[in-house]
Amino acid sequence: MDLHGRSFIGWASGTDGGKTFTAINPATAQPIAPNYISASAAEVERAAQLAAQAFISFSRTSGKERAVFLREIANRLDGIVDELVIRTNQEAGLAEARIRSEAARTAFQMRLFADLIEEGSWVRARLDKGDADRKPAKPDLRSMWRPLGPVVVFGASNFPLAYSVAGGDTASAFAAGNPVIVKAHPAHPGTSELVGAVIIAAARACGMPEGIFSLLFDAGTEVGSALVKHPLVRAVGFTGSQRGGRALMNLAAARPAPIPVFAEMGSTNPVFILPGALAARGEQIAEGLHGSVTLGAGQFCTKPGMVFLPKGKDATNFSQNLSKRIGESASQVMLTPGIQSAYTGMVGARAKQSKVSLAAEGKPSAGEVGVRGVPAMFAVEAADFLDEPDLSEEVFGPTTLLVSYGTREEMLEIARGLQGHLTATLHGTDEDLREYRELVEILEQKAGRLVFNGFPTGVEVGHAIVHGGPYPATSDGQSTSVGSQAIYRFARPVCYQNFPGAALPDELKDANPLGIWRLKDGALTKD
Ligand code: NAP
Repeated sequence: MDLHGRSFIGWASGTDGGKTFTAINPATAQPIAPNYISASAAEVERAAQLAAQAFISFSRTSGKERAVFLREIANRLDGIVDELVIRTNQEAGLAEARIRSEAARTAFQMRLFADLIEEGSWVRARLDKGDADRKPAKPDLRSMWRPLGPVVVFGASNFPLAYSVAGGDTASAFAAGNPVIVKAHPAHPGTSELVGAVIIAAARACGMPEGIFSLLFDAGTEVGSALVKHPLVRAVGFTGSQRGGRALMNLAAARPAPIPVFAEMGSTNPVFILPGALAARGEQIAEGLHGSVTLGAGQFCTKPGMVFLPKGKDATNFSQNLSKRIGESASQVMLTPGIQSAYTGMVGARAKQSKVSLAAEGKPSAGEVGVRGVPAMFAVEAADFLDEPDLSEEVFGPTTLLVSYGTREEMLEIARGLQGHLTATLHGTDEDLREYRELVEILEQKAGRLVFNGFPTGVEVGHAIVHGGPYPATSDGQSTSVGSQAIYRFARPVCYQNFPGAALPDELKDANPLGIWRLKDGALTKD
């Protein structure tokens, strides 16, 4: 497909005249054609108006109809993977295998939500029988989850496919019955345009209303801010920095009618290596940790950024092993010049901190060009870590910090002081688990996912996954942005009191025509 460099406002292309920008190839640091034109204020308005109009009919479609639409997107995505391999590689510097697996994951997510809404029980239908003879009379109450209205999705830089235009936020918002307006991430506009064209073609092929989807480009933050403030927008999905996520939360809260922002922001993902595991498997853990820290140049929100271990001979061996691996690691292409300079700046600042030591640094490749980050490992004593809150902040890139503690109480104090994270990882033996039971109880309060004897990178998409966690990992610690439960971010419960059967949604009718699971007078049944 030829790239045009314009937004999609419903079925129409954006106009000329706005500020322009180009993607940068991070492997060469050179711009990539074509120029992309920022959407105008009038186009933001048109996209919001169309989305609100589309919501009227889209919200009334059945789960089966929307499932056909999601599968059509997935099938059409499968058909452009070869094009994505070329363009996404140019824009994000990702290798072919990564692009193919991320594209497969993106299509899988669409199909997962298609299966969920086709089956239909996700609406959590509840029926409480009325009783006219009770004093006072008990009303007939029936409730289910309904869509919110137009959702704005911000594409993520580090997942140009799976968390971007047709990513998990878009899939879950569509699945619940909401139109979506995507604000494309400026790092990969061509990838965004290719995927946006697929969604529009799928929507038209399935007879969906115009405005169910728009894709807006912008060289800066104006379009995103205007969308979040627009009175017709009902919710926001975001993946990116704490600074960006917090700015959008503040904008949404300051509206005359505030709306929810589901922001998945940074996380440092603490790893606790307990004494038994350190003694028994130190070398193996160092190997796995090195792989997890450097995977994708460390540009994952689940990258393990701080590792806690007890002082002693085993810790020294572990640290030497990991240092050697990091020291032998070559520099890696990063996603954008901005991310690379933030990484280099934070690593440089950490290296200058008096109580922190630079334990190992990777090697710049000979004659290297482009936007690259050199892997680095730091070490600090627990007492100094506790004195420097900055050390628990995310450094987005291939680096981690080893924190050595002297006593069990010191380690528990660190755990109690942690902020919210997406994940927390434990390496332990059965005996470690018995002895450090309190640590598990503390970490349950701190993270959305607890990983045992593994590594946090690699987020499985499914029904039980939780990719969330208390603030500041996310803006809403009661939700997940990955997996089928992500649909509840873009829906809300509505109760119908004493409605005649004919006026009720099919999900709530006495005869249960959709055959879904329902909670009837407190018992789960398909009757
Ligand atoms: P970002 O700066 O948070 O930007 C993400 C998206 O939000 C972009 O489209 C950006 O638009 C928009 N945005 C940011 N601030 C905004 C504001 N005040 N108003 C309206 N829109 C706003 O993230 P990034 O560019 O991907 O990377 C920067 C840093 O974010 C990284 O160094 C890393 O620390 C972090 N990050 C975290 C994750 C994660 O998974 N948690 C993922 C990626 C990045 P513009 O680009 O046009 O400004």
